[in-house]
Amino acid sequence: MSRVYNFSAGPSALPEAVLKKAQQEMLDWQGTGMSVMEMSHRGKHFMSIAETLLADLRELMAIPDNYKIALLQGGATAQFSLIPQNILGDKSKAAYINTGAWSKKAIKEAGAFCDVQLAASAEDSKFTTIPERSSWALDADCGYLHYTANETIHGVEFFDIPEVDMPLVSDMSSNILSRPVDVSRFGLIYAGTQKNMGPAGVTIVIVRDDLLGKAKNSVPSVFNYQQQIDNDSMLNTPATYNWYLVGLVLQWLKELGGLAEMEQRNIRKAEKLYQTIDASALYSNPVDKAYRSRMNVPFILADSQLDAAFLEAAAANGLSTLKGHRSVGGMRASIYNAMPEAGVDALIDFMTEFERTH
Ligand SMILES: *Cc1c(COP(=O)(O)O)cnc(C)c1O
Repeated sequence: MSRVYNFSAGPSALPEAVLKKAQQEMLDWQGTGMSVMEMSHRGKHFMSIAETLLADLRELMAIPDNYKIALLQGGATAQFSLIPQNILGDKSKAAYINTGAWSKKAIKEAGAFCDVQLAASAEDSKFTTIPERSSWALDADCGYLHYTANETIHGVEFFDIPEVDMPLVSDMSSNILSRPVDVSRFGLIYAGTQKNMGPAGVTIVIVRDDLLGKAKNSVPSVFNYQQQIDNDSMLNTPATYNWYLVGLVLQWLKELGGLAEMEQRNIRKAEKLYQTIDASALYSNPVDKAYRSRMNVPFILADSQLDAAFLEAAAANGLSTLKGHRSVGGMRASIYNAMPEAGVDALIDFMTEFERTH
């Protein structure tokens, strides 16, 4: 068996140690004689897995007590519609920053449930920057401001948390757990797990308690944050095995030293990859240097005729899934927590050699 370095944007590489542990425990979880997949979600074994997961997430992200955590299904995409229905209360308007493909989707979905104020947009720049905070238009009657902390397709990331006078809502699907964040600055944080937390199938919602209890009556119970939280996110059968795998990823992060350590690693990995791109005549990345994502590094080749050869040679060198999103073209290297520094080094060596020979 040989594993490749997998640069997929999501579902994406998982830490090898996590996969091995899951393999070890597959048939018999800790002497129970059964797989986690086969356990009742109400039984004490699974309850202990769930409790540990929540405690570890709280510890790793330093989530304050007045924030509740829900583990839901439907991906971040479901949250695009559920957030306005759950937290707007008697307000009818919310503000959104448009920094790329995922913000755009969030805006479109929210538009069915509230008036969207487009506070700022980077569309004119083809999503290569983040509009200056001073240029944002924020009406006081907006119930929240939404932004996408990391644009997975365009490779644009917020490194500062915006200062605003309304609850801040952030889609952190592709950069959650990549560095410490001050949760107390947010009203709500959400993330699908398949980028940086585990396999697909779980969506984490971290919400400040004053935003709970405001859901419209029309919201189905499984999508009602308050009801799910009151039921430990087990109002119906949860994606049990996926919760378990997310739990293993959190334990792996704790063993490595937590999010401050991950931040150092992620900075090192991203910096050397961008340096390689910037020093090259063949590769380029169009994003404003201040906002270049540490998680998703898109780059194009000066001659797109070389794309196919690049991808083929990369695959032959054990470097997989580097093709860029169809809307941006070129390449994209997703280098989440689970991508070891050696994987980035291997990519850099390959890119350097490919440039030399083409
Ligand atoms: C992948 C992604 C989504 C969509 O996640 P789904 O689980 O497919 O709904 C939303 N936002 C961001 C930033 C993403 O990277």
